[in-house]
Amino acid sequence: MDPSTVIIILATHLICSGGLYYLISRDMPPRSGLVHWAAGGVIFGVAYIARLSIERRVAAPWTVAMDSAMVLAVLLFVAGLRQFSGRSAGRWPVLVGAVSVYAAAHLAVALQWGGIGRHVLLNGTLGLLYLALAAEGLRARSLQPGRLRSPLLVLTALMGLLSLFTLARAAHVAWQGLDVLYAGLFAQVFYGYASLAAVMLALNLIWLVFVRLNSQLIELASRDALTRLLNRNGLDELVMRHFAARDARPITLLQIDIDHFKRINDSHGHASGDRVLREVANALAAHVRASDFIARVGGEEFLVGCVAADDGVSRALAERLLASVRKLDVRLPDAKLPVHCTVSIGISRRCGDLTAWERCWAEADRALYAAKAAGRDRVVSVNSLGVDLR
Ligand code: GH3
Ligand code: MG
Ligand code: MG
Repeated sequence: MDPSTVIIILATHLICSGGLYYLISRDMPPRSGLVHWAAGGVIFGVAYIARLSIERRVAAPWTVAMDSAMVLAVLLFVAGLRQFSGRSAGRWPVLVGAVSVYAAAHLAVALQWGGIGRHVLLNGTLGLLYLALAAEGLRARSLQPGRLRSPLLVLTALMGLLSLFTLARAAHVAWQGLDVLYAGLFAQVFYGYASLAAVMLALNLIWLVFVRLNSQLIELASRDALTRLLNRNGLDELVMRHFAARDARPITLLQIDIDHFKRINDSHGHASGDRVLREVANALAAHVRASDFIARVGGEEFLVGCVAADDGVSRALAERLLASVRKLDVRLPDAKLPVHCTVSIGISRRCGDLTAWERCWAEADRALYAAKAAGRDRVVSVNSLGVDLR
């Protein structure tokens, strides 16, 4: 296909996808990276089309401006990806400074070496920036949770290959002159891949946004908003998944309830009660191993699942949990002294499968009731109750 046609299609695609990112960004939280990607797409597209009419005047202000705009656009894509992965997008003066340096270099190179210098500089710079985008994707991949890793890997591969093609193009032009820019096999392959990369990049960025939103939805549905622990829904899913495995290991349940929590609410107010709840939840969670789990299953009630633990291990964990809450000094705005609280814990027998789950939970609850009746701030195991619980 004629390169001008390819450029027009590519540029139109970039402008439209930029517009789409902008529309999506309006429904997204700030600093999602989308506004940078929107600006990058539109600027790259407009500059790409504008350059079609100015190919021969290499040192004219308009040429310098459009080439610099392409550099700015790719920098914006990098900044957007940094922002998407929770890092700073970088400051505007730095961005403007970098583009100004590029513009000065363009002028110097174009005056010295004409069109060849201009295209070598542009392709060399874009190639390095695509490489930076690929590296940013790789870095984000190591920071992000599992579900985002696939789209980030695809982005890294896409941009890595585009970088290689673009750097090779710079070398090719330096070696063979301007004729190879738009004619010959290399130009065909370059424009073919650049078109594919632009389309794939646009989809890839939408894929990233989709995966992030989906993860947030799953998180919202399975986590308690106050303590960030699993909620009832998250707990049910986790238990189902656990026992669906063929070699599922037994779980011992620890039912935990804050003692006299109502008094804390009554004396300090509901907001302070929430603060105590959060601190207790953090203290408990800090002692739960990665292979175990903890959920908030009621107002001031928590359930810990202790996987593949014998009676001694689950008892020792319960004692550690008890001690960690006892040690808490919760500072409240309206109280001069830190508030202290305790918990009571009931331990079930080992639960081997899903059918035994409800029974084990009832056992833990019954043991908890016994701990409350015996004076609170203690652990009671259902095994010690001496009643037939079947
Ligand atoms: P016990 O030692 O017998 O467990 O006494 P308790 O006061 O802890 O138990 P009770 O069941 O009488 O009261 C629990 C209180 O927990 C009552 C309720 O207002 C409070 N609560 C439940 N959910 C929340 C919450 O999300 N935030 C706050 N601040 N309080 C809550
Ligand atoms: Mg309570
Ligand atoms: Mg309770």
